[in-house]
Formats: sequence, structure tokens, C-alpha cells
Amino acid sequence: MTFFFPMPDLTTSSTPSTPSTPSKTLVVGGGLAGLACAHKLHSAGVTPLLLEGSCHLGGRVATDAVDGFLLDRGFQVFLTAYPEARELLKLDELQLRFFRPGALIFRNGKCHRMMDVFRSPAHLLQTALQPIGSVSDKLRVARLRHRLKRLKPDEIVAQKDVSTECYLREEGFTEAMIDGFFRPFYGGIFLEKDLRTSSRMFAFTFRMFAEGYAALPARGMAEIPRQLAAELPENSIRTDAPVRSIGKGQVTLESGERIEARHVVVATDGETARDLVPGLGNSFVGWRSVVSLYFAAPKSPLNEAIIALNGDPEGLVNTVCVPSDVVSDYAPQNQSLVSVSVIDLAESSNLESRVLQELESWFGPEVHAWSHLRTYRIRRALPEQLPGTEVPGGNGFLRSEGIYVCGDHCGNTSIEGAIASGLRVAEEILKS
Ligand SMILES: Cc1cc2nc3c(=O)[nH]c(=O)nc-3n(C[C@H](O)[C@H](O)[C@H](O)COP(=O)(O)OP(=O)(O)OC[C@H]3O[C@@H](n4cnc5c(N)ncnc54)[C@H](O)[C@@H]3O)c2cc1C
Repeated sequence: MTFFFPMPDLTTSSTPSTPSTPSKTLVVGGGLAGLACAHKLHSAGVTPLLLEGSCHLGGRVATDAVDGFLLDRGFQVFLTAYPEARELLKLDELQLRFFRPGALIFRNGKCHRMMDVFRSPAHLLQTALQPIGSVSDKLRVARLRHRLKRLKPDEIVAQKDVSTECYLREEGFTEAMIDGFFRPFYGGIFLEKDLRTSSRMFAFTFRMFAEGYAALPARGMAEIPRQLAAELPENSIRTDAPVRSIGKGQVTLESGERIEARHVVVATDGETARDLVPGLGNSFVGWRSVVSLYFAAPKSPLNEAIIALNGDPEGLVNTVCVPSDVVSDYAPQNQSLVSVSVIDLAESSNLESRVLQELESWFGPEVHAWSHLRTYRIRRALPEQLPGTEVPGGNGFLRSEGIYVCGDHCGNTSIEGAIASGLRVAEEILKS
């Protein structure tokens, strides 16, 4: 999809531009932050020009159609409790389908079911007696849930900030519970199993899981950015328009073209923002990576809409799920789509066959009937969110003389964080 410019009241030229009276806003980056920002501005009657460097909108939220399967570029889910996202998006049109609240944990060749007993009370006894942590650990989960659900988002941000691992220990959880449940579950979300991620991020995510459901849109995760883009005028978006540099009131594209504007919103990932806007300050410290493998299977190894975790300390695999058990359109009829996530990957030769070998101990020899569809190695998946990272400007964005920076690196590293940050910048621009 390539949209063409021109916008009538922005100055564009391939030679150095002459001073003019720019009145508009440029948004650099068409991921969720940039789209949310552009969407809000447009709804308020201030349509910006959005410049996206790649050939597609949506940034890190993308879906590929491959041989009748829908492959999200890296397994990810939308949490229905995300407050700003649910306000902005038309959730009914996304036709969300839900995961069951809980997880299957594979340990020592056995499968243990840990359900959210508040929403699945029939599993109360079974969950309490699972040999993943003690009964007191399960009670501690209930207490934490009760406490975090009562906190407002700003109260979560005001909490003491330590690593998630440290927070869980301070809450009194046993090592068995941390290693058997929290490490694979939140490791799969944070994309790191050390649980070094900020406890504020943990508290936020824990609460979102407690309040809502993990979901997939009926036509893939890319439906989320697609919905936002569809409400913007075509001539307000240019794809294949990478920005090389940004100055006060002016943006220069890789092509040499210059565009002037009163406000420039840098809605790229944090690393790019740091390079494009030196001196503005940036909390970006590094990336977390993931490898996402997809297989076509003659039948689902899980047969239910649930996430399965590796509860053993060893092994490559962290998470397995079957997106087609959640949304049937993720796979052609009579086939299932299996998604496997591998994190903390030091080396990865023969990854597909090693993963299948490992999963044989989970699902038996049926895994050898699976055929490999695609592997995504996503080096720049999530920005590190370490304890003590200041939320820039305290508002989820940065600003200096007409340049604003937003994105998931400015708030919490999620779909919600990206959207909320983009919306905050739009509000600031509208105020000005
Ligand atoms: C594998 C994976 C799993 C995830 N799981 C979840 C999950 O389960 N739940 C959840 O809530 N979140 C999840 N996330 C995080 C979520 O997807 C991101 O936080 C969010 O999409 C980030 O949006 P963004 O707009 O801030 O950045 P991006 O999506 O990175 O968008 C930035 C955009 O800027 C463009 N750009 C970069 N440089 C330039 C330039 N020079 N000129 C013009 N354009 C440029 C890029 O092409 C891109 O389109 C996951 C992410 C990944 C990768």
C-alpha cells in the first residue's frame, strides 16, 4: 500500500526549501503510536501528514498471509482491558476472539493446568493442587490480584520500582512458583526470562490480565493498525518515505526531499528516535528479541484456546499456542496453526528441528507430522524496560520546541503504551 502526497499546505521540495509559514503537523512513523496520534489529530480537524519509512503501516504489529494461514509477525495478543486502546479502537469491528484465562504448564513431561479461578471457578481445586508453587502461592496470587485491581494507573506508576523478580520475592512467592509459572508466563510477555523488567510493567500487565482477556482479532493482529489507518484520508499518509533527519520545523527524507511543518512528531521506535532527535533525551537502552516459529499441523496439539508454557528450567521453547484454536480463520479448513516462541536465544542453528524434537516430549510423535511454515527472528521486538527508567516528561512523551517523541519506549512497552503515548502527543498539539 503506497499513498501519495501532496498535502496542499505543507511545503515539499527536492531542493533546499525556502522559508514559508508551515501550519501543519508531520508524524514520522506509522506504527500504533504514530497512527493513534494521527487519528486523534484528524478527528479533531487537524489532519497531519504521516511519513512511514517502510512499505507498510503498523510497525511491529503485522500479519502475513501464507498458504491460507495468518501469521502474526511474532506472536502477540491484544488485552481487552487496555484502557486507552479500547477507547480508541472499534473493538466490535475487530471481532476479537479470546484465550481462556490461565495457562497449561509443561513440566517434567507432564501438563499442569493453572486457571484464573476467579473467572474459571470450576478449576479452583485443580489449580490449588497443581504442583506449581504451593497453596500459599495461589493465595498470594489472589491477594495480589485484589490489591492491584484497586490501584489506578498513576498509583501503579507511583509504586516502588524494582525488578519483577525482586518484586515477586518481596511479595513472598516461592522460587518454585516464580520459576514454574511467573518466569515462563511473564518471560513470554517481556521477552526475557530473568524477570529484570520493571515491576511497574509487571503490575500493569498483571492487572490487565486480571481485568480482561487476551484476544486475537478475527483477521490477524494487523487489523488493529489497519482500522486506525482506514479512518485517515489517503493523501495524509505516505509509505516508503524514510526520514533521514529532523530539525526544528523541518524534516528531510532519505530522498533529499524536505518538508516543513510547525509540529514534528517522532513516532519511530526508541532507537531510531534517539538517532533522529539527538539531545532530546531518551530512555531507550536496548532491545529484547524473540524468535517466532509457525507450523502447519493436521490437528491441534492443544485443542483449546489457551497458552502453553515451558515450566522446566531447560529447553529452547518458552510458549506454544494454537492461534487457529482461538480464531479458526488463522488456518485453512482441516489444518491447525501452531505458534512457538523462543526467547533468550544465544545460537540457533537447526532451530526448527530442535524445537520439534523438544516438543515431542510435550505432544508425542504427532509433532513430526507438522510442517514448518515460517520463522520470524525479531531482534528489535521490545525495548528494555528496566526498573528506574523514568517515563520521559512524566507524560509518556518527550517535547522540545515543536518536536515531540512518542512510542512504546516512552511509556509501557505494549500496544497500550504505544497508543497512549501517541494520543498524549496529539492532545498536547491540539492544546497548542
Ligand atoms: C514479537 C512481539 C510481540 C509482542 N507482544 C505484544 C503483546 O502480546 N501485547 C502487547 O500489548 N504488545 C506486544 N508487543 C509490543 C507492541 O507490538 C509494540 O509495543 C507496539 O506495536 C509499538 O508501537 P510503536 O508505534 O511505538 O513502534 P513501532 O511499531 O516500531 O512503529 C514505528 C514505525 O516507525 C517507522 N520508522 C522507523 N524509522 C523511520 C524513519 N526514519 N522514517 C519513517 N518511519 C520510520 C517504522 O517502520 C515503524 O512503522 C510485541 C511486539 C513484538 C515485536
